[in-house]
Amino acid sequence: MLELTVDEFKERIISKLQTNKSKEVAGATNKEIYYVIASIVNEEILPHWQSTKKRYNEKSCKQVYYLSMEFLVGSLIESNLLNCGMLEQSNEALKQLGFDPDNIYAQEHDAGLGNGGLGRLAACFLDSLASLKYPGHGFGIRYRYGLFEQRIIHGNQVELPDYWLKDQYAWETRKEDEAICIHYHGNVHMFQRNDGNIEFKHENTDKVMAIPYDIPIVGYKNEVINTLRLWSAESVGLDRDGSSEEGMHYYHDLDHKHSIEQISGYLYPDDSKYEGKELRLKQQYFLVSSSIQNIIKDFKKNHQKSLKYLPEKVVIQVNDTHPTLAIPELMRILMDEEHFSWDSAWEVTTKVIAYTNHTTLSEALETWPKGMMEHLLPRIYMIIDEINERFCKGLWFDHQELREKIPELAIIADEQIHMARLAIVGSFSVNGVAQIHTDILKEKEMKNFYDLFPERFNNKTNGITHRRWLLQANPKLSGLITESIGPQWIQRPKQLISLLKYSKDASFLEKFYQVKHENKQILANLIHERTGILVDDQSIFDVQIKRLHEYKRQLLNIFHIIYLYNELKENPNLDMIPRTFIFGAKAAPSYHLAKEVIKLINKVASIVNHDAAIQGKLKVVFLENYNVSLAEKIIPAADVSEQISTASKEASGTGNMKMMMNGALTIGTLDGANVEIKEAVGNENIFIFGLKADEVLNFHQHGGYNATDIYNTDDRISRILDQLNQGEFGSHEIEFKDIYYNILSQNDPYFVLKDFEPYLETHELVEQTYRDKLSWLHKSVTNVAHSGKFSSDRTIQDYATEIWKLKKQV
Ligand SMILES: *Cc1c(COP(=O)(O)O)cnc(C)c1O
Repeated sequence: MLELTVDEFKERIISKLQTNKSKEVAGATNKEIYYVIASIVNEEILPHWQSTKKRYNEKSCKQVYYLSMEFLVGSLIESNLLNCGMLEQSNEALKQLGFDPDNIYAQEHDAGLGNGGLGRLAACFLDSLASLKYPGHGFGIRYRYGLFEQRIIHGNQVELPDYWLKDQYAWETRKEDEAICIHYHGNVHMFQRNDGNIEFKHENTDKVMAIPYDIPIVGYKNEVINTLRLWSAESVGLDRDGSSEEGMHYYHDLDHKHSIEQISGYLYPDDSKYEGKELRLKQQYFLVSSSIQNIIKDFKKNHQKSLKYLPEKVVIQVNDTHPTLAIPELMRILMDEEHFSWDSAWEVTTKVIAYTNHTTLSEALETWPKGMMEHLLPRIYMIIDEINERFCKGLWFDHQELREKIPELAIIADEQIHMARLAIVGSFSVNGVAQIHTDILKEKEMKNFYDLFPERFNNKTNGITHRRWLLQANPKLSGLITESIGPQWIQRPKQLISLLKYSKDASFLEKFYQVKHENKQILANLIHERTGILVDDQSIFDVQIKRLHEYKRQLLNIFHIIYLYNELKENPNLDMIPRTFIFGAKAAPSYHLAKEVIKLINKVASIVNHDAAIQGKLKVVFLENYNVSLAEKIIPAADVSEQISTASKEASGTGNMKMMMNGALTIGTLDGANVEIKEAVGNENIFIFGLKADEVLNFHQHGGYNATDIYNTDDRISRILDQLNQGEFGSHEIEFKDIYYNILSQNDPYFVLKDFEPYLETHELVEQTYRDKLSWLHKSVTNVAHSGKFSSDRTIQDYATEIWKLKKQV
């Protein structure tokens, strides 16, 4: 690693500015300085990137490829500086030259190529792979528009396109000479080869070029640079079809060009909900076909071996079912292009592909209409059909006990292709993302498959990179930690456990308190700048930041706030610790109820924040456009972390981990990774409430819950619902009626009313605990101390040894 002094770093900035822009520092804009810093980092990265590739090839080591429709990388300037070991020098050099480093780094537009947790997980995994020296790379799509930018106007979410490539993206390299051709539509021609075997030819296809853009993934101070390869759909280099009298087909060609470029046009903004559009299927095949062709090409180049040895050198992890077409695509190439028999192609494929499940929500389980697949990808459809035939035959003859269940197990049923079933049948590993989630898969949602293939199912509890989410996002706390226990925790996050010996040390706790308080002041300033709201930095910062979804139950949170407001109106002198409730959440543009909840939060905020009668005891803040960069600003200041999903619905959650790692105490249900957070920190250091997963699943199965009964018996609840129904928070009466009816006519599908009372009581306990400052700080430190388990380094270590059988390249 380059060891630059601050003076040397300054010199580089000055001379680069001179050569690149012919400018003096004094005349440079923040953006120009940003690009100068990025190019200093890129110069440092480039030779290590080349040598890493060379090393992997020479050692011909096994490599993992993480296929994902989403990579929510956020901003890279700080994490690249950090991992290159230059962040401190850069900060200091910029300050000495008269710049605020935060303003310079803020010039980078977040790469928002993901919706939420699933995409962020992919980004954290890449960071950990490189930092642990594992040969592992990402394949994704270079959407020209990322997840929409959210504005709140009169309380409503408004979506603006996120054209993140407006300024040149500093970290990508276009590799036109490594383009790959993708085929859609057309027909399949069958004929007999000389050896008697049948050969399939996919003909008359529509062709699309996939151009790779490579982004370096920098390991932490270890000179390892892996690659995130994002594919862009273009018509470059394609032969023009048919008669082309110049000009005649101009408009036709423009349409054609446009429809090709659409494929990498924008990211689908639906989170936890299947979006059934042909364009989405085109995108999935685009990712899968370009990546698999690329992997095979590299294998052939680097290993003078038959592709039957592919499983020794390659493992492909598919992130949710979105890239499941990797299975038939690999089969297609092995059979049609490499002349493998079905059986030998199947043997290779099912040793290479591993699948991660992210949800049990039925509306999120992907299916595609058979006819759509057949039309768009005729050869792929034939292969899926054959996989299904063979699988169902096997069930019929070898598992007579399952004969009746074949319709529930078949990959093609009711004219639909069931992607999760295809993923399980065609892979060697199926993992859930937290213990309780994996248990539900095994015992309930995928029980039949578990009984068939018990050895395939395993758990890999999610994690987050502590380098971004603690070291980089919270320099004050990480500084205090290093000052107290030394820097080893940065390489080995489990060593955070050493903090326990300070968890009752009064002088440490006081410093710890100061750090949190300073972070809260910084966030209070940001809130004031962005919203005009003045918040009390001595109040409890109670944070719920995540995608807006019914199952995540932002509604339960806002009902609690309305309840507190009602109490304060009745008794303005109520003795309570002031609270600041902070929200960040995007709703899918087509998700009406989710948008209603955003509006409700904002309407309640505007009433509560302006009501002098409650003496500032309550503030409600909705920060617009929640994304990675905003998360990095909020999380260090959180006191309370709201993780209140309906039990059984949140597969893991990772926001919960980010906040505990920064010393927030969790109020949460026994859902997802909350269960393991509780086991790690102990019952007394977390606030658990509400229905358990098996109770929720039982209600789903056998009924027995009646929301109206609660409405009729609990005055606090009927008051809130009536306030909604009567338009007390809206400007007119019909506003928020949909929320009212969803709860009373749809019988409260996410058990908001059922969990309301235990939630209130638990919040009272939170407040009581906060009153005892030392006790709170003790719990807070205990959370940080146990957060090492939730580093994605631990997760990746588990994937590498248990699924991928991957060796570190030391
Ligand atoms: C971590 C993260 C998420 C996931 O949050 P959950 O609380 O686990 O749903 C979503 N969006 C962003 C920007 C994140 O950083």
